[in-house]
Amino acid sequence: MFDALADRLEAAWKKLRGQDKISQSNIQDALREVRRALLEADVNLQVVKEFISEVEAKAQGAEVIAGVRPDQQFIKIVYDELVQVMGETNVPLVQAQNPPTIVLMAGLQGTGKTTATAKLALHLRKIDRTCLMVATDVYRPAAIEQLVTLGKQIDVPVFEMGSDADPVEIARLGVERGRAEKFDTVIIDTAGRLQIDADMMAELARIKEVVQPHETLLVVDAMTGQEAANLTRTFHEQIGITGAILTKLDGDSRGGAALSVRRISGAPIKFVGVGEKVEALQPFYPDRMASRILG
Ligand code: GDP
Repeated sequence: MFDALADRLEAAWKKLRGQDKISQSNIQDALREVRRALLEADVNLQVVKEFISEVEAKAQGAEVIAGVRPDQQFIKIVYDELVQVMGETNVPLVQAQNPPTIVLMAGLQGTGKTTATAKLALHLRKIDRTCLMVATDVYRPAAIEQLVTLGKQIDVPVFEMGSDADPVEIARLGVERGRAEKFDTVIIDTAGRLQIDADMMAELARIKEVVQPHETLLVVDAMTGQEAANLTRTFHEQIGITGAILTKLDGDSRGGAALSVRRISGAPIKFVGVGEKVEALQPFYPDRMASRILG
């Protein structure tokens, strides 16, 4: 496991071999390699710094376990820490005591928010939870059509009022419909912009206030790399997120954004998107992601 990291740590290990303790002086080269691996996996720089100092604190003074190579022991410490920071286990979607569970989707345009809305609805449908999707992106009429088309494809109804209505009102009435018709979950797709802007945030905040969602999920494109950290910080500070969906993990990305998102918001990543198809959604598992990040 972690052959790539093990290879690059090869030189650093020479200093660890034959030592009976992992100490500050014999670990520096190894930490530098881990730092480089994390940066290459697109973990945010500040997050990397904090992570490295935590690993250093954990590793220092660790007795080398008899029969275990210190390099393997060190990799285990790094891996365990990664898994721990990312939350250890999968955190499922919240389920409201009094349905419908209301899920608000947030994120920039192009991240895969609308696709993720349909993916989530299909996922829930497969476990016998009825879903209503609500289309509030009135700025891009194509987004409403996209959701309607996806809805037909997966046999999940869509509440929409065209592109002349007020998004906050659409969300409110969508939830009302969901409640009246006893849907189990209402998922609200919202407008995204190419960049964060004040109007978008204000509108999202108003929708959130009106519908009082049980989940506010930030959709983050794994290919965003370093920027995922700033994005998460802004959304979390201004809207407050309860979880995230990391999309486009079928691409080249090593998934370092997962670490940044979790670290910065404290909110768990609940699902990952692994393709354009509506079935391409998987629960997020911290251990699998840790392996991927370490390479
Ligand atoms: P939105 O603007 O955030 O609603 O984004 P869309 O849902 O319209 O998705 C933007 C593009 O990304 C579309 O071409 C999707 O097919 C694609 N996409 C969404 N999720 C994934 C994913 O997990 N993997 C890949 N490869 N493409 C995705």
